[in-house]
Formats: sequence, structure tokens, C-alpha cells
Amino acid sequence: MAAPRLVSVLGSTGSIGVSTLDVIARHPQDFAVYALAAHSSVDSMLEQCLQHRPKYAVMMDQDSAERLQKKLPAACGTEVLHGEDALASVASAAEVDSVMAAIVGAAGLPSTLAAARAGKTVLLANKESLVMGGHLLMQAVRESGARLLPIDSEHNAIFQCMPVDEQARPGRDGVSKVLLTASGGPFRTWTGEQMREATPDQACAHPNWSMGRKISVDSASLMNKGLEFIEACWIFDLSPELVDVVVHPQSIIHSMVQYLDGSVLAQLGNPDMRTPIAYGLGWPKRLASGVAPLDLVATARLDFAAPDESRFPCLRLARESVAAGGTAMAVCNAANEVAVAAFLGGRIRFTDIPVLIEGVLEQLPAVEPTTLAVVETADNEARALAAALLVDMTGQPLEVTLA
Ligand code: NAD
Ligand code: MG
Repeated sequence: MAAPRLVSVLGSTGSIGVSTLDVIARHPQDFAVYALAAHSSVDSMLEQCLQHRPKYAVMMDQDSAERLQKKLPAACGTEVLHGEDALASVASAAEVDSVMAAIVGAAGLPSTLAAARAGKTVLLANKESLVMGGHLLMQAVRESGARLLPIDSEHNAIFQCMPVDEQARPGRDGVSKVLLTASGGPFRTWTGEQMREATPDQACAHPNWSMGRKISVDSASLMNKGLEFIEACWIFDLSPELVDVVVHPQSIIHSMVQYLDGSVLAQLGNPDMRTPIAYGLGWPKRLASGVAPLDLVATARLDFAAPDESRFPCLRLARESVAAGGTAMAVCNAANEVAVAAFLGGRIRFTDIPVLIEGVLEQLPAVEPTTLAVVETADNEARALAAALLVDMTGQPLEVTLA
């Protein structure tokens, strides 16, 4: 029997991380955990270490690492590390087969890039790293021979519906369009005035998916679809005109590929991230994921509509940043992270999110994203400018974190 594949789960205490460990635990013969990494949730990490016995547990800062170390019984056999370098090293270690990139936000880029450069099978949930550093990440994948398997449900669906070439990588022969579905989020039917008064808890109450708070707010503003639009262009090497967004409130069709002959292939399933996660872990084999079978009779209907970019300007801003090219996408992503954190912290209104992003995009010129340092500089400048604009908006300085 083959040895289990070793997996590093980055962002293990989050929504995707927990679902990943759930799927892994269903297949103890096939997978073992090499490393777990999280920001500072020591108690969740302790529990995960006791259950999965990773070789390494990586916390973001020294204090969290020391607290974990104190609580962890020696018998667990897990070595506790901390910081960016440790994160990159568990993402690229020779023994590792697959890396689940499920840190939230731009903080995930260096470790995702390290995994790609080391030629790993990269299970990409962290869409922000691709939006920010798509050029670098795709180049790393090509040069190292890494395999990028999209975990974002829409991109996973597209991957499943794309034609497959001899190397078993998705090709584009005969593809005329990619149809990216969007649930429309909790405010799909709300007016602009209602959205002005929306609270963080209302924004996070997604009708179909249970997710971390940052992506939940992105789903409510449709910036999530904007980020996914950019993500689709990078992963499948598509020009933006080939990607259409379709609102589909039931979240049963996770996306579609339309072919020249008029065929449209769709991937359907219940909205549970364990399906794309199991697909990524098992690829090219199918694995049991624990997801309930789809009951189409109970679902009864599937609706579709065009997105409304006047009520949801974030989608337009993401499109404009693709058109501007270069570091504009990193700037858009960074400004969005600051705006979402400010909204979640009760500092700005929901409807201020696109205002802030647009202000930042207007003021920062896009440059060629040639190196990680160039991308990180653009990210830092966008955050600084967003923070300054926020002071203008609220009259108060701001500290932000998504962790
Ligand atoms: P989450 O907030 O639930 O979890 C984030 C995880 O990242 C946590 O484990 C946290 O400790 C860790 N983390 C945060 N900052 C870190 C840092 N600097 N260093 C190390 N670890 C850090 O988020 P989530 O909903 O699981 O989303 C994770 C990523 O997956 C996001 O990029 C999101 O867009 C993407 N995604 C999520 C879903 C979903 O259903 N939740 C679906 C598609 C894509
Ligand atoms: Mg998605």
C-alpha cells in the first residue's frame, strides 16, 4: 500500500482549514498532516494538533507559539514554530506533497508562492494571493511544474468542466465562455439605502455558505465575485471578455463552461466546500467528502439573473483593475482588505467599502508586477493610502487585521 500523501494545511483553524481536516480525517490511509499553520488561535490549534499529530505547527507570532508550546503534551510529537519563514518552509519542505493554501488575505501570498516554487500540488483557496500576485504565482507554477488545483468552488467547477489535454491539465479547446456563478449574497434584493444601514452581522449572514467573516463581507459586496473574476482569468489564462458573471441565488450550479458548439457544462452540488476540497485532495481520483447528495427535486428550481453593478460597484472596480493591469489588482485587493476590516470594526458603512477602494485605485498608478517586492510595495502603499482616506472619512486613525 502506498504511503499516505503528506499535506500542509495553511490557515488550518479557519473555515476552509477545518473543512480540509474533516475530509483528511475521513481518509487516514491516504493522507497525513505534515504541518498546520494559523495566526493566533492557540486553543483551536492545540485541538487540531492532538487530533492530527502534525510534524510542525506554525503560529504567526512568538507569543502564540509559546502559549501553544506550553499546552502541547510532548507525546504529541509536534514541533512548534512561528513566523513567515517557518510558514514558507512547511509550504515547501521536500516531504510535502500537497499544500492547502487557506490563509485569508494578502498574508497568504508568500507561503503560496513558496509552495508553487517548490513544485507542490497547490490547493488554492486563498484567492487574494492570486489576485495580488497572479503573474508571479502562475510563472512559478509553470517554471517549477507545480500543479495548481483551484479550491474556490467556482474555479473548481470550471476546472471540472474544462477540456483536459494529454498532460491532464485543463485546456481551452472549443471554449467560448466561462460562466462564473454568484449567489448575489445576503443583500441581493436590498436597495442602496438598506445597504447603507447594513451591520457586519447582516453582511456575514450568507444565505447559502458558512465562511470566514472577510469572504462573507466580500460576498455581500460582490467583491468576492470581482476577486473570482480576476482569479478565473489567471488560473485558466482567459482574457476578461471570456468571463461572464451570472447571479444564481441557489448556489447549486457552482459555475459553467460554454463551448463553441452550444454545449454548456456545469458542475452542481450542495454548497459545501468539502466537495471542492475533496476533489483537490484526491485529484484525479474522487473521494468521499461527507457532503450530502444533491436532492434536485427538493431544490426544485434554479434561477439566473444578470448582476447589478450599480448597486454592487465592487464588481465594476475589480473589472477596472483587470483592465488597468499590473499592480492595480494588488491595489484593489489591499484597499478592499482595509475597507472590509474597517467595516467589520464598525468604523465605516457597508456602502463606504467601494468608495474607499475607488479612491485608492484612482490615486495609485499601476506598475509592472515584476517581483514579489514590487507587488508588496503596491500592497503597502494601497493600505497606507486607504488608511489615510479612512481618517478623512471617519476622523479617526485605524488599525486593521483580518486574522
Ligand atoms: P477564515 O477567516 O475562516 O480563516 C483564515 C485562516 O487563516 C485562519 O486559520 C487564520 O488563523 C489564518 N491566518 C490569518 N492570517 C494569517 C497569517 N498572517 N498567518 C498565518 N495564518 C493566518 O477564512 P476562510 O473563510 O477559511 O477563508 C480562507 C481563504 O479561502 C480566503 O482567502 C477565502 O477567500 C478563501 N475561500 C474561502 C471559502 C469559504 O467557504 N470559507 C470559499 C472559497 C475561498
Ligand atoms: Mg467562491
